[in-house]
Amino acid sequence: MSTAVAVEAKNVSKIFGAGIGEVRALDNVSVTIRQNEFFTLLGPSGCGKTTLLRLIAGFEMPTDGSILLDGEEVAHLPPFKRHVNTVFQNYALFPHMTVAQNVAFGLEMLGKPKAEVQTTVAAMLKLVRMEELKDRRTSQISGGQQQRVALARALAPKPKVLLLDEPLSALDLKLRKEMQIELKRMQLETGITFIFVTHDQEEALTMSDRIAVMSRGHILQIGSPTEIYEHPADRFVADFIGETNFLEAEVTERIGDDGKIRLPSGIALPHKMSSNAGVGSVVTLAIRPERIDLVRPDADAHLKGRVDNIIYFGTDTTFHIGLETGQALTVRVQNRRGHQEVLQTGDIVGLKIAPEAMQILRD
Ligand code: ADP
Ligand code: MG
Repeated sequence: MSTAVAVEAKNVSKIFGAGIGEVRALDNVSVTIRQNEFFTLLGPSGCGKTTLLRLIAGFEMPTDGSILLDGEEVAHLPPFKRHVNTVFQNYALFPHMTVAQNVAFGLEMLGKPKAEVQTTVAAMLKLVRMEELKDRRTSQISGGQQQRVALARALAPKPKVLLLDEPLSALDLKLRKEMQIELKRMQLETGITFIFVTHDQEEALTMSDRIAVMSRGHILQIGSPTEIYEHPADRFVADFIGETNFLEAEVTERIGDDGKIRLPSGIALPHKMSSNAGVGSVVTLAIRPERIDLVRPDADAHLKGRVDNIIYFGTDTTFHIGLETGQALTVRVQNRRGHQEVLQTGDIVGLKIAPEAMQILRD
């Protein structure tokens, strides 16, 4: 992946309507997307993902701030003059045309020579693995195949940036998983920057080089899937991506980045302080269920509790543990061969958590 910048949004706000009907769809959003990157905008419905894509594509103008493509402000450029193409959720194919004609259409509109159109169409159909169906009408192929044709059509003019607005949401689960891998392959093979929009956290984690997590018109965090999952910046991100336990702790010592935090059990543990919380302040820790170990309820345990519920999932088992404080924590343990679980509902257990598995959240 190169470090050159493909797309930049600088302090972008977008307001729809006016007066009491005013909607602030984006509020001072800044993001830099690199060339050849698979970048995902992730967030719940209504958080502003589509609005940001439409601003990049040029279908909308920002109320404030600027959009730069290849380092150049593009406010004056209409959509068709930007080196950007969009794949929409409803593929918008021409049903009476064949697969090949659909892919050729945009190139012909651009006035490309016939030979070039043919070569490009063949290459694109190969890329999306639709060569064999090239003479079928798009009304006579499946949803997944239509999705591939829509991709081939959008990639054919060789845009520098491809925008994909929830392109897989109409597909069933199995096909969606298959297309996730395919999309990633197409992005690697073409070297085109993909900006992908989804509300599905698993989809985002699977495919992306980096993810921007959005909520209510803001970007809350930008990072690699691992950074976002392992080090969520705030409660929204921690809650939205994967499953998380929240636990309050008090800061009891602090010298620079080194400190100690006291858990509700009274046990104090050393901790690298990622927030600027001072001694005496209460912080919220985010702890992933698979990062908690079940141990004997002896003095070594960081927390103690009672097994309230055991749920067997095949690959792993989830334990709901009621702490002495009344709070419940979720613990997930992988089921390994020969590793017989002996715990039963009602048992008292100890919990151990490595300090690096306790992420202090931003207030
Ligand atoms: P997402 O794609 O994340 O679901 P959108 O970008 O479509 O979110 O919408 C963000 C917010 O802006 C929502 O509250 C939506 O209702 C509002 N919105 C989007 N487009 C328009 C529009 N053309 N006019 C008025 N409000 C809009
Ligand atoms: Mg949307």
